[in-house]
Amino acid sequence: MLNYTPEILPFLFSLAFTLGLGVVAAGRKTPAATTFFWLMGSLSVWTLCYILELSSVTAQGKFFWVVAKYFGAAAAPVLWFLFSLHATSREAWLTRPVRLALGGWVALTLLVVWTNSAHHLMWTWVALEPGQPELQAGHGLFFWAYAAAIYGFILASVVLFTHFYRTAQPLFRRQGLLLTLGGFAPLAGRMSEDVLGLDLLPRVDEVIFFFLVSAILFALALFRYNALRMVPIAHHLVIHNIRAGIIVLDPAGRIVDLNPFARELFGLAEDNIIGAQAQKIMADLMQPPTSPGFEEELTLLREGTTSYFSVQRSPIQSAQGRLNGHALVLFDVTARRVAERQLEQLAQTDALTGLTNRRQFLHLAEAEVLAAQQQTRPFAVLMLDIDHFKNINDTFGHPVGDEVLRQVAEACRVNLRPTDVLARYGGEEFVALLPQACLDDACVAAERLRQAVESLTVQSAGHTISVTLSVGVAVSGGSGASLLTAYLAQADAALYASKTQGRNRVTVATELVTSHAV
Ligand code: GH3
Ligand code: MG
Ligand code: MG
Repeated sequence: MLNYTPEILPFLFSLAFTLGLGVVAAGRKTPAATTFFWLMGSLSVWTLCYILELSSVTAQGKFFWVVAKYFGAAAAPVLWFLFSLHATSREAWLTRPVRLALGGWVALTLLVVWTNSAHHLMWTWVALEPGQPELQAGHGLFFWAYAAAIYGFILASVVLFTHFYRTAQPLFRRQGLLLTLGGFAPLAGRMSEDVLGLDLLPRVDEVIFFFLVSAILFALALFRYNALRMVPIAHHLVIHNIRAGIIVLDPAGRIVDLNPFARELFGLAEDNIIGAQAQKIMADLMQPPTSPGFEEELTLLREGTTSYFSVQRSPIQSAQGRLNGHALVLFDVTARRVAERQLEQLAQTDALTGLTNRRQFLHLAEAEVLAAQQQTRPFAVLMLDIDHFKNINDTFGHPVGDEVLRQVAEACRVNLRPTDVLARYGGEEFVALLPQACLDDACVAAERLRQAVESLTVQSAGHTISVTLSVGVAVSGGSGASLLTAYLAQADAALYASKTQGRNRVTVATELVTSHAV
């Protein structure tokens, strides 16, 4: 027999809340959310049975629901404690003996409640006083043990939440605060009633409301500030699909996780990667394997192609700030590197002839002159100028002149060693730096170039064109000159001598009088 009484209204409201929060939690798959789901379940059973107790008319009816209420009331404090462990990342405390003890406590409470008529350890007497919505009862020994256990579990959770809040990183601060307040609510409620005598709802048990306040605060902490569902899924998708390698290392530098892109990068079976020392795997793949481990940039050689990766390393910290390892993000910067190399190449090359340009020549030659002087090894500088080139332009046109320039440049290039630096110095003027060349070597090379150009016949636009080359040679040592510009000036002076003495000849700067004429 059930009868409506207005005293159940706040509890119906509370029941709707705990059920609703349970539904929200059911969608989340984390251990904390799962425990929260069961906590909401137990509070709902507790509340529902209490509503039915209040609505029952007879003493037997009320007592039936009091006993049933303990399915929720026995489990709720334990689930509360479990929740506080999960929410503060203390799962490690849940060892087998602890689990058994907690489960055993719930079972013992239920057993004592069910068999009360045999021992009266929970209630010594039960009676329905007229005008009272609740059954009145005398409390037995176990009841006080049960009450003490509730206090114990709640106190323990408050300590855990407070510690979590005090040590939490800024990101987890608000969550920590909500958990702490939530944990404290039942304690504050009970204390205000027990110590201050503040009875919010006379004639009924409002402990359920204190738990409800906590549940709402917990739910905010879990679902609002931890964003348990959306963010991890989004993160997972990003990590899975991103065109960058993501590798998670433990504090010892072993690979504990990596995304598909990184796996493809290594080209190794998963068994060989997980648990392996990242430094070793990288060293094996690196070309050349000079610097083991992760630098700012990584060069990988795979199937004959070189790839460049920029490496970003971020420490992974727990809520308490402990270092749990590192996350490495490897971005493929190959396209950028190749473009940079091409750009660099373009900036150093003469567009018409493909030779090194003047700027790059000066850069390379300065370094070589310095190195040669430090190591006292010889070198030579050649200045080369096409004779009467203006006539070619004037007679055959500029495009033909261009073709002549190209072919003269090529003829010179193939007649020098790969270690020599040949550059286009100006319009129809070239310069060469010959490392390790003594005077005789330089003269032989210069003469070879002069002959090569002389024997060149350029076919262009239906014309056959022949040109000659004047050369000035400067060699290191003896002269006392030390700067590149001094050698260039000497070679230029020698070139000028070649011109004035009739062109198509080689002149050496140190012996301007004895020109190596044809
Ligand atoms: P010299 O024997 O005294 O060296 O006489 P030259 O005519 O070769 O010397 P000059 O310096 O009087 O003329 C060089 C000419 O080279 C003038 C210029 O128009 C031409 N020239 C410079 N750069 C280029 C180029 O890129 N292409 C073409 N076709 N001609 C060029
Ligand atoms: Mg000229
Ligand atoms: Mg000239």
